[in-house]
Amino acid sequence: MPNCLNSHYTDFLRACATAIGQQYVLTDDFNLKIACVDWRKRYQGTALAVIRPANSDDVANIVRLCVQYGIAIVTQGGNTGLCGGATPLPIESDEYKPQIIISLQRLNRVLGVDIDNATVTVEAGCTLQEVQQAVAEVGLWFPLSLASEGTCTIGGNLSTNAGGTAVLRYGNTRDLCLGLEVVTPKGDVWCDLRGLRKNNTGYDLKHLFIGAEGTLGIITAATFKLFPIPRGQLTVLVGVSTITQAIQLLRYLQAHMGADLSGFEIMSVACMNLVAQYCSPGPSPFGDMPWPEITVLVQLDSGIEFPQLLDRMAEVLDAAQIENLTLQSIVLAHSAAQGQQFWAWREHIPLAQAAEGKNVKHDIALPISAIPDFLLSCNQRLTDEFPGIRLITFGHLGDGNLHYNVAPPLGISTALFLEQCEEEINTIVYEEVLLRNGSVSAEHGIGQLKREWLQSMKGATGLNMMRIIKQVLDPQHLFNPGKMI
Ligand SMILES: Cc1cc2nc3c(=O)[nH]c(=O)nc-3n(C[C@H](O)[C@H](O)[C@H](O)COP(=O)(O)OP(=O)(O)OC[C@H]3O[C@@H](n4cnc5c(N)ncnc54)[C@H](O)[C@@H]3O)c2cc1C
Repeated sequence: MPNCLNSHYTDFLRACATAIGQQYVLTDDFNLKIACVDWRKRYQGTALAVIRPANSDDVANIVRLCVQYGIAIVTQGGNTGLCGGATPLPIESDEYKPQIIISLQRLNRVLGVDIDNATVTVEAGCTLQEVQQAVAEVGLWFPLSLASEGTCTIGGNLSTNAGGTAVLRYGNTRDLCLGLEVVTPKGDVWCDLRGLRKNNTGYDLKHLFIGAEGTLGIITAATFKLFPIPRGQLTVLVGVSTITQAIQLLRYLQAHMGADLSGFEIMSVACMNLVAQYCSPGPSPFGDMPWPEITVLVQLDSGIEFPQLLDRMAEVLDAAQIENLTLQSIVLAHSAAQGQQFWAWREHIPLAQAAEGKNVKHDIALPISAIPDFLLSCNQRLTDEFPGIRLITFGHLGDGNLHYNVAPPLGISTALFLEQCEEEINTIVYEEVLLRNGSVSAEHGIGQLKREWLQSMKGATGLNMMRIIKQVLDPQHLFNPGKMI
């Protein structure tokens, strides 16, 4: 690096240290190495420093210095994102700019719970679990829940518009958010932390920043809706043979359990075998019986107490069978602990897959009515093209969101499989998704992983509108270059 450039960056880092304190401008190899790699260890980049501001004023000061010195910004929360959005670009990238990582982990205060308004206001670096716990302490409930909740942050949840296990009833992060505080790419602080359910006053600006993956600014705080803690909760496993039967069950339960139905997950037999092999979270809930072709996990969150909820659900499932719904096997959890054991099987799937080795992952959404046809056609094309592959299909069927993963044939090196087959597999899967008006990214975002598919989703006009918004808000293109757009 020429000396004049070196001194430019040194001056910049010195100015950052003066603004927020030397100890919060980390340039050592240890911290840089951790922050420059993504969760799946798929992407690795380079940064001048990891900068750890303490509040929105600190963030604004750092952003203004970045604008002055022409330094790009990668915002990072818990670094659990699955598309490489929080990882800086490597120097070899055509889009590389000298960049810093701004970590929000010190912005971790719960600013207040308004019990009568049923809202909570938190800083963006709080982990999701910290928020859940803070509101539970005052008898309220924040229903967003992901397997990464101990590490992922509220800012990351908002920036990826995270989904999770209760979207069916409560919506995704966007639906739960009532207000935001954002540091704009100019370094202004825009604060709109009103806990209002109704507010029709022109463009709803918060929605620009939700799901923007750090490309339009930095979210520093947010206000969310809260709910009463359910009086009764029940988890049920139901075995079915086909995806059509699973969809019939979904519609039946919605009709008969109403809003109590908050989660409706599916797991194929291949998933369960993988979990049993690598994680074994306990004895099979189905006892000695083999795992059904598809296991449906149903979650109910109700205003009625557990014993009545259990009786009601048992009646509804009996009636479903009398009305000719084919349900192979049913296990109702008789305690919260047993319900957690059922969930453990679902939550261990990604871990079991990771233990086995890398695979080609897809986080897709489809109209629920199109899912049977998608699976029929896509499974067939993939198995014709790549004999011996293993399809690991699970996900949030209630939201039309499938995690549709393709593992190599047994005995084939995963690295070789990815290198030789990933592109073609992606093309087949996304063609089948787009053919049925689906989405190539249901809840994980675009990041570095799915940029080439954005135009197919947005169309030329949509993508152009996105580019105009980006140009107006971030004319120097300093916010998360090389990601999403
Ligand atoms: C085991 C596991 C399970 C998961 N399950 C789910 C699931 O069920 N549903 C789901 O949706 N996701 C899931 N994820 C993905 C991930 O946890 C979510 O995307 C989460 O919302 C990311 O939060 P984070 O704080 O880790 O964000 P990061 O990974 O740090 O960042 C993600 C993106 O948001 C940007 N960003 C982060 N903070 C801010 C901010 N304050 N302002 C502006 N931009 C910001 C980053 O630049 C990046 O583009 C899972 C991940 C793991 C590892």
